[in-house]
Amino acid sequence: MTQTTSHETVRVNLGERSYDIVIGPGLIARAGAEIAARKPGIRCAVITDRNVAAAHLDSLMESLATGGIEAVPLVLEPGEKTKRFDELVKVCDHVLGARLERGDAVVALGGGVIGDLSGFAAGIVRRGMSFIQVPTSLLAQVDSSVGGKTGINASHGKNLIGVFHQPDLVLADTDVLDTLPIREFRAGYAEVAKYGLIDRPEFFGWLEQNWRDVFAGGAARIRAIATGCQAKADVVAADERESGARALLNLGHTFGHALEAATDYDGRRLVHGEGVAIGMVLAHEFSARMNLASPDDAARVQRHLSEVGLPTHMADIEGELPATDILMKHIGQDKKVRRGALTFILTRGIGEAFVADDVPADEVFRFLEEKRGS
Ligand code: NAD
Ligand code: ZN
Repeated sequence: MTQTTSHETVRVNLGERSYDIVIGPGLIARAGAEIAARKPGIRCAVITDRNVAAAHLDSLMESLATGGIEAVPLVLEPGEKTKRFDELVKVCDHVLGARLERGDAVVALGGGVIGDLSGFAAGIVRRGMSFIQVPTSLLAQVDSSVGGKTGINASHGKNLIGVFHQPDLVLADTDVLDTLPIREFRAGYAEVAKYGLIDRPEFFGWLEQNWRDVFAGGAARIRAIATGCQAKADVVAADERESGARALLNLGHTFGHALEAATDYDGRRLVHGEGVAIGMVLAHEFSARMNLASPDDAARVQRHLSEVGLPTHMADIEGELPATDILMKHIGQDKKVRRGALTFILTRGIGEAFVADDVPADEVFRFLEEKRGS
């Protein structure tokens, strides 16, 4: 991590696919200059959604024009439903219609939905174009814009169709988060805290002390995002195509995905990061129950996440949850299940997560049965 005045740069080391993540305030205004300096003569298609366009598209277009970069915008509907085939076709047509060449760039201005969809288009149009991420949600800044996973949803499940396509540059403007709805900010914060819980206990301790400043903006926000990006960059550099260590990033996600599925991915009831928050508490509680970790650690995780305003118990989810065997079915369908044994990310304590691939299903069932009421 290198720091200039108010910006930090995290390098993702992937040989010839290496790239910088620049993090700091005012980066949209500087995007034209940053991109022109790295890629002189480049032309761009800017893909965004209606919410983000209303707040930030004009500034980005102006900034690109100032940098002498020709750019054509495409505004899509916000929401997870946009990650589907017909929208992918729209993006591809837009890029081709603008006569962009392979060296030109698809620029994703938005949250994870826009990033995943545009990255997929960049990966397949002309067999792979340049791709630049300008993530505008906290989740996208610390998670989805880093690592090169792109794609759309299928009727068989989420994120099942896509390619690995690394960006050439990520510009994470920490000011744009001021227009992000607070619920979305909190949801992204769950993923920030996740990096502490995986293997950076001192970072989790720092968040416990400084989370209010992270929410307020300024230096603490930059530090939290840079640390999150560095954590993800380290894992991605070690395991670009998710064959091993990258699985740790799924801490809280097996339970979390089951809860998202159980609430029909209805973002009014539960957004992804909220499912992850509840899932991380459950993972710590389950680890304590299996005598792997102290119950005090689970209590500490629960205390911090609920202090920032995240849900931490299944009972915090509005409306009825389906029966435990339905939750188990969703857990069983999660991609981390192999050969009948359940694979979970469990922990030996704060910052000591590990992959457990022989978790007895009946223990999980009894645990969930007890927990759903509390
Ligand atoms: P999102 O893209 O739907 O954004 C959340 C909401 O916030 C949307 O309504 C959006 O319009 C709005 N928004 C975003 N930035 C804003 C801003 N600055 N001001 C005002 N409104 C703003 O959702 P998300 O949480 O960013 O991303 C979720 C997606 O990311 C999921 O599809 C998930 O599968 C994907 N994801 C991908 C990876 C990966 O490695 N590729 C990792 C994690 C998640
Ligand atoms: Zn997640």
